Amino acid sequence: MRILLVEDHQAIREMIADHLRERGFAIDAFDRGERALAGARIAPVDAVVLDLGLPDMDGMQLLSALRALQPQVPAVIVTARDGMEERLLGLNSGADDYIVKPFNLLELEARLRAVLRRVGTRRETRYTLGEITFDTVSREATVLGKPLDLTRREAALLEELLRVPGQVITKDRLEDRLYALEDAGSTNALEAAVSRLRRKLAGAHATVSIETKWGIGYRLVESPVP
Ligand code: CA
Repeated sequence: MRILLVEDHQAIREMIADHLRERGFAIDAFDRGERALAGARIAPVDAVVLDLGLPDMDGMQLLSALRALQPQVPAVIVTARDGMEERLLGLNSGADDYIVKPFNLLELEARLRAVLRRVGTRRETRYTLGEITFDTVSREATVLGKPLDLTRREAALLEELLRVPGQVITKDRLEDRLYALEDAGSTNALEAAVSRLRRKLAGAHATVSIETKWGIGYRLVESPVP
């Protein structure tokens, strides 16, 4: 899943970005509202994490502008202001949740996942297909009960495929979900990640496999037991 993070405080921005990347999200991080808007015009995101006090614009103004591009995008506001009035103003203006600084990164992550679940079509904490399970919180996959050793990116790929088992996801959509703007050459990277995940699934004797729809994308299918 892909998150737009806007926070002008460098240390806080990097701390949030590092944590969320480690937890399997692709992060587009920006320090200014205008830059974030430019980024959002290039690629859609699954959710927004937004600082209220930005140097070039008010965070709520930015959220309105982002929602003009992506009307339903869920948002978690990160703010140093803890006045009740501002909090209520934030929620009335369409933020889905807010968190006051200083905050715990795990709490921010939990709130982000909660707003993603609220808007999502199928955003569960645990996915299963055949003998594969994937826990979106612990980021652990198992095949026949045994843990599958996956990189962050492979885990994110498996998660996206498991969300819509049997359905083809286009390469463009997968790239949007898995790769942030700063990740260059994502088509080759996606193909490489698919091959690695395929090898690992085969190595674990999974009957679930990734099928290629040439020129379109990929889907996860259960193959009959030989
Ligand atoms: Ca700020």
